[in-house]
Amino acid sequence: MLLVLAACYCSVDASAAAALYRWTDAEGTVHYTADLASIPPAFRDSATLLNAPQARPIPPPATNEPVALKVTPGAPVTVEARLNGVALTLIVDTGQFPSVARRVIAELREMKAPPVRYVVNTHWHGDHLLGNSAFRDAYPHARFIAHSHTIKEATRVYTGFAARMAAKLPAVAEDMRKQMAASTSSDERVWLEQSISCVERAIPEMREVAYFPQDTVVDDTRTLDLGGLTAVVRHLGTGNTPGDLVVWVEADRLVASGDMVVAPVPYAIGSTLDPWVATLDALQRLDARVLVPGHGPVMRDGTYLADVKALIASTRAQVAALKAKGVAKEDAARQIDTSDFRARYVDTPMRRQAFDNFYLDAVVQKAWGEPKPAS
Ligand SMILES: [Zn+2]
Repeated sequence: MLLVLAACYCSVDASAAAALYRWTDAEGTVHYTADLASIPPAFRDSATLLNAPQARPIPPPATNEPVALKVTPGAPVTVEARLNGVALTLIVDTGQFPSVARRVIAELREMKAPPVRYVVNTHWHGDHLLGNSAFRDAYPHARFIAHSHTIKEATRVYTGFAARMAAKLPAVAEDMRKQMAASTSSDERVWLEQSISCVERAIPEMREVAYFPQDTVVDDTRTLDLGGLTAVVRHLGTGNTPGDLVVWVEADRLVASGDMVVAPVPYAIGSTLDPWVATLDALQRLDARVLVPGHGPVMRDGTYLADVKALIASTRAQVAALKAKGVAKEDAARQIDTSDFRARYVDTPMRRQAFDNFYLDAVVQKAWGEPKPAS
């Protein structure tokens, strides 16, 4: 009855990234929590931070940090680990590199977690599944679950990926260094500095990256018995990708959303806005008390989800209107009004850059398409 959400982590916002703390109570029982405030004040100073989050952008490849959650069936959800009575472990996403997954596995062992029986990959992006191979090595009986779109895309993209990236990443870092030297924007320099650091960290990781594909398809719904606790893997529709899966634990009203919800700014590279709003409607209808996003802090109210849905709905309507008026691609980003969302969330150099790169420019690229090659 232990649900562990090894959500990938390459947050654009260090302060908002979830951490994992370990603390020991007066009886000597070890607890794990992602929420420092949930630790009784008398024990807070002695809590150990196990995975210090670091500020870094999502792509290019970055190291992720895990989030581990304990779900106590029937009780109000807390993120504390109760180590008795657990039967099976379910993992949601495995992180960007095997080294990340091995850290999660070490934590699972330290927590005396039961064997990992299911690994759910919420979508095809590498930061959610390139740690699969480490879980396969540690738990040979685990089933790996994904939507058929995820399996198709991941197989296409990650076959031979490590060799390609190992050859390419040094030049990517070099290009970024040149861009940084030429940049006159302080926001952009902050962004590039983080991006270069991500790429440099990724280069040695490539030696061990070997994509391990899923063996179980869920294109609609599948109910999994974790030994007293039921988790439901569901495809609610196209969100961040056409193969998005969520994991829903009704007993605790907890949902792990994958990247259809990413905080502090949404991630829309390659995404289609049209169906995304309806998919977020379906997510809202679950009426979760706890939402674990693909990136960002665990959420205990629906404010951010509602704000992201409003942003996407508004952007979608504006894109349709601008296209109908014949507005050119190069003018589009300037004319899309996202001021409501920006005023609430986009208030640091990293967030400004992430919003422009991961959301606004991504939307324009997708809606207006690549420029036609000159004939
Ligand atoms: Zn992601």
